[in-house]
Amino acid sequence: MKVILKIGTSVLVNNINGLDLVLMQNLVCEISRVYNQGVQIILITSGAVATGREMVNNLLSRSSFAALGQTKLIKYYYDFFGEQGIQIAQVLLSANSFKNRSRFNLLKETLTQLTDNRIIPIINENDTTVLKDSFGDNDSLAAIISVLVSAQKLVFLTDLDGLYSSDPKTGKNARLIKEVESVDLEIQRMCSKNTSKLGQGGMLSKLKGAKLATTCGIDAFIMSGLNPDNISKLLLNNQPVGTKFTSRKSHLSERKKRLLIGTISESRIIVDQGARKALEDKNSLLAVGLRGIKGDFMKGDFVNIIDKKGEVFAFGVVNYGSKELMPLLSLRDKDEIRRLFRKAVVHIDNLILLKC
Ligand code: GLU
Repeated sequence: MKVILKIGTSVLVNNINGLDLVLMQNLVCEISRVYNQGVQIILITSGAVATGREMVNNLLSRSSFAALGQTKLIKYYYDFFGEQGIQIAQVLLSANSFKNRSRFNLLKETLTQLTDNRIIPIINENDTTVLKDSFGDNDSLAAIISVLVSAQKLVFLTDLDGLYSSDPKTGKNARLIKEVESVDLEIQRMCSKNTSKLGQGGMLSKLKGAKLATTCGIDAFIMSGLNPDNISKLLLNNQPVGTKFTSRKSHLSERKKRLLIGTISESRIIVDQGARKALEDKNSLLAVGLRGIKGDFMKGDFVNIIDKKGEVFAFGVVNYGSKELMPLLSLRDKDEIRRLFRKAVVHIDNLILLKC
């Protein structure tokens, strides 16, 4: 079994002591225990920025804090895994690392070689080189890696026990949701946009990651990393812990899965209900169905496709850039639109439905 474990900043770093070495060591012990039972692990770790912040008194930029904190973070992973007799490798990635097929394949080969040779890859976003092309948070990165290596499970370790029906930090009646069968709008509304004070993600970004993974046939979980034994409960004993997002049977080809990395794109095309229905009936997206555009994109880029209620239900590779499409939004005459935009905006072969 191949598992992607993502450890959030809120687990590793606290406001009082900075990097929590005791907890980190316990987590590494648990991970090693599971690993030694034959579970292949790839770790995605946050915590560099918050750790760096604790290491100096000066007010540096986020990227400088990351550069500084990453050294300490990886040093302790190296030491703690070393005590367990396990080697690790550091991999720092940016959204560009996935942008073309050769980079994508190189990364896949590297991760496969490392894991095949009993080395645990420890991945973080390369915060010193990212600007606009950032993942924004490591939750998306973890989900993408789970697709890239065809993992069976994606586990988000955070400071909450799972997904709650409302924000448990503010609401008294918040109820832990044990299983989610589809990440629809109702589920998205439940979760807080708030990130922890130190991390970048939040429940919403975990839902986005879970949606991506489950669409590709990977079960996703959100659970507390503050109780390290949750890891073996879930991965060795198959006990229900936290929130489980049940995967769908995936018939996506490798090529379409590769296209799914495009969900890191913030570019959006808004379509009407008629177009949504047409896409769900396996047709291409035509210009007449477009109702809005968000973000700058070029021909060949990935865009999220959302309906007027704001639900991302598909994404694909566009045949027109945002500048070319913009004038279309003021046109009313459908025949004129068809005449001016003869090609599909997104061809069905380059389209993936994120079934809800
Ligand atoms: N890459 C950032 C770090 O290591 C964390 C981003 C996040 O919180 O998801 O601090």
